[in-house]
Amino acid sequence: MTNFTDLISIFITILYMVASVLFIRGIKLLGKADTARKGNLLSSVGMIIAVVTVLAEKEVRDSFTLTDVLHNGYLYVIVAVIIGSIIGAIWAKKVEMTGMPQLVALFNGFGGLSSLLVALTQYLNSDHAEPFEGITLGLTIAIGAIAFTGSVVAWGKLSGKMFKKSVSIPGKNVINAILALAGLVGIFLYAFSGDAIGVGEIGFIGIAIVTATYLILGLTMVVTIGGGDMPVIISLLNAFSGLAAAFAGLAITNSVLVVSGCLVGTSGLILTLIMCKAMNRKLYSLLFGTFGGSSSKKGEGSGKEPVAMSVEDAYLILEAASSVVFIPGYGMAVAQAQHAVKELADKLEENGAEVNFAIHPVAGRMPGHMNVLLAEANVPYEQLKTADEMNPQMPNTDVAIVIGANDVVNPSAVDDETSPLYGMPIINAFEARTVFVLKRGKGTGFSGIENPLFTNDNTVMIYGDAKQTVSSLVSEFDDA
Ligand code: NDP
Repeated sequence: MTNFTDLISIFITILYMVASVLFIRGIKLLGKADTARKGNLLSSVGMIIAVVTVLAEKEVRDSFTLTDVLHNGYLYVIVAVIIGSIIGAIWAKKVEMTGMPQLVALFNGFGGLSSLLVALTQYLNSDHAEPFEGITLGLTIAIGAIAFTGSVVAWGKLSGKMFKKSVSIPGKNVINAILALAGLVGIFLYAFSGDAIGVGEIGFIGIAIVTATYLILGLTMVVTIGGGDMPVIISLLNAFSGLAAAFAGLAITNSVLVVSGCLVGTSGLILTLIMCKAMNRKLYSLLFGTFGGSSSKKGEGSGKEPVAMSVEDAYLILEAASSVVFIPGYGMAVAQAQHAVKELADKLEENGAEVNFAIHPVAGRMPGHMNVLLAEANVPYEQLKTADEMNPQMPNTDVAIVIGANDVVNPSAVDDETSPLYGMPIINAFEARTVFVLKRGKGTGFSGIENPLFTNDNTVMIYGDAKQTVSSLVSEFDDA
């Protein structure tokens, strides 16, 4: 009998290793657009294996008896998995591509909430905590809570449903520091109190303090972020949700949770550093203060009005161009113009022009947003260039076509020290010989800041939905 039990434990350990390997391989495949689906599938299989293995673990088996499934805890687990899977599947199927970033933000938040709930349940089930366990549990609560409320605010901002305008909190940094410190004191009280559960006991007060302070901290930290700095905070929240899961894994001694949490945590942290570089922001200022410029400053209007051009006239300029750079942004995603853009790129190439795409790392509403859309439209990978690769060539570019991009081509980031965007690297569209800006009207970008590019002498606006405008340009080439 003992041998059989040992065998099961070995089998369970192997399954955990298989799940971990699938997660790691899945993440690797997610790094490229053409293997991303496979990566997603592998990670999902890993997750199914992990969930089933957890349910087969001895501690879980001992608390439920399999014999009468209708009258024990397994039923609740199975019902929860089915309900969650149905909601997830319907949601993922129905979501528009433009709704993806806020969905991902919400998933991050749910990850944080799960870790928070796991830690609280662990706390309720234990009557005593050793300092190490207490600290891990307290950190799980803290990071899970901040990831949860922070991500809900990020969801609200991205979807435009809440906190559309960035809120300013006087003395924000002091308030955040007090909340963070108070939460740490809470963790300390719990971890070193010896007693844990009774209402009014020191351990209980500690848990209540850390839960409340870090839930509020998530809100106060993210609600003030504006001026286009959201990508950094979203990546950081992603890292937090992973870190919370890793600590939850330590708190309940579950290795696969530690592995998957570390994977999400470290990849989120790497993404945060990439985003910091893209936005030219320092991680320490992000964490400790000066970060998060308010978008209340709208930028100085030049007093000039943008000049509009018809599709027919734009075609004549394009027809004569020998180098064209497309600069896509969030508006291309809204219009779903990527396939039409690819068609126009083909026409231009057939006409003898050299065509490139300049991709800003924070264009759109999620990391890699433009790359995903353009890969879907089969734009060759070699044509996708970074700002560093494209900017030196901008002065020799005949036409820069800005498709629904705004903040990522805003020259205030280069020459207006008072702008909240100042210091953010941009695609230097303004240096091209002629700039076409395709947008519907006078809408600002995510940061809410006016863009002086639109009134430059070498810029013309082609108003309308980006997909319609690009399709009309393609028709002009067809009719020629
Ligand atoms: P912006 O949000 O700056 O601008 C988008 C522009 O698209 C708007 O000015 C809008 O103008 C136009 N637009 C919208 N719909 C259409 C349409 N159907 N056809 C044509 N134009 C349209 O986009 P960018 O990509 O330049 O910048 C991204 C911003 O989002 C940055 O501030 C970034 O910090 C932020 N962000 C990025 C994240 C990321 O991870 N990438 C995450 C969170 C925020 P109009 O209404 O007049 O048409």
